[in-house]
Amino acid sequence: MDIHEYQAKEILKNFGVPVPRGGIAFTPEQAAFRRLELGGGRCVVKAQIHSGGRGAAGGVKLCDTDEDVRDFARHLLGTALVTKQTDAAGKRIDRLWVEEASQIERELYLGFVLDRKSERIMIVASGHGGMEIEDLAEEDPDSLIRMILDPAVGLAEYQARELAFKLGLEGAQVGQMVTVLKACYRAYRDLDAMMVEINPLVVCADGSLVALDAKMSFDTNALFRRGEIAGLRDPGQEDPRESFAADHGLAYVGLDGDIGCIINGAGLAMASMDMIHLAGGAPANFLDIGGGASPERVCQAFRTVLSDPNVSVILVNIFAGINRCDWIARGVIQAYKDIGIGVPVVVRLSGTNVEAGRKLIRDSGLPIIDADTLAAAAEAAVAARPQSIAAE
Ligand code: GDP
Ligand code: MN
Repeated sequence: MDIHEYQAKEILKNFGVPVPRGGIAFTPEQAAFRRLELGGGRCVVKAQIHSGGRGAAGGVKLCDTDEDVRDFARHLLGTALVTKQTDAAGKRIDRLWVEEASQIERELYLGFVLDRKSERIMIVASGHGGMEIEDLAEEDPDSLIRMILDPAVGLAEYQARELAFKLGLEGAQVGQMVTVLKACYRAYRDLDAMMVEINPLVVCADGSLVALDAKMSFDTNALFRRGEIAGLRDPGQEDPRESFAADHGLAYVGLDGDIGCIINGAGLAMASMDMIHLAGGAPANFLDIGGGASPERVCQAFRTVLSDPNVSVILVNIFAGINRCDWIARGVIQAYKDIGIGVPVVVRLSGTNVEAGRKLIRDSGLPIIDADTLAAAAEAAVAARPQSIAAE
């Protein structure tokens, strides 16, 4: 789960990372007032969306006057910002962060991520931070400093100092960098974060280190024990289909094709995507109903998949272990009754209570296409699409 820059800054500040003073604004008037609160001088107005690359996309601006702030705020609020990291629709801007401007001497990059290879927290840093870091990471990946942390020791003092030296910091900045690194590490560890990124971490003209940008994302599976983090969720930044699914205990990822998928288990879901492609089709989504799915949850899965107007056929593929085929079948039948399904449905059931499930479907009298194997189901789904789509 991602959060906004201002939320990440607030968290990191509480752990000891220096951040500029600032305030949040939902209207141009508020934004202008925030500038006055900060002393009425030069400020930075920043679009708050769950994406980086805002600077290059025109979502960040230095403003010197009341007029500047109001104009820029009016220009941004209520629109969608398309960045390198968003899709073509962009992300809607409903709030701005207004902070005191900093005088940048140097821009550094600092990130804490989970390195899946070593199964440890890894620090990634660079002496050349700012908006071009992604290009640098691609062109010259070896220029990035990487440091893997031992979970038993955490971030050792000597490691933090070594990193500061490698970044070319000297004097009092070394101590400041150690403070920043330790704070980020504790925030990462204590809050079940998946990523903490400060880009840029700047050396100001007066020699102080300040986090000018901050990004944090969290392990969704740990949110149950991090109520204060879960409360920072902003559904306005999520794909509405994905938020609806998450609210109903479903794992959903929207895709570009037209075959809606209702599947149990991420492995089977991925295999099904492959089979659909092999059969010449394209999935509209990835949806995992999980284990022990009740008929109600199956019905919600249909609702989620059908909320995508591109869906022209639905493939239900269940290999029931903890799940029960008869419950799945009941869910499919209930979906026909409750929602009304106007597209062909292919169902492949296998595993626990499969006979009972298939009988329910046969006896329902509904126009459900029955399939035996995963391959047959994918082929049937591709074949069941309306001619107009199949011809594309
Ligand atoms: P991002 O593009 O979404 O990563 O947004 P950032 O918060 O990183 O802002 C983009 C760029 O704006 C930064 O890399 C800085 O170069 C610049 N910027 C942000 N805040 C300030 C500031 O206070 N003063 C100056 N001079 N530049 C700033
Ligand atoms: Mn940034």
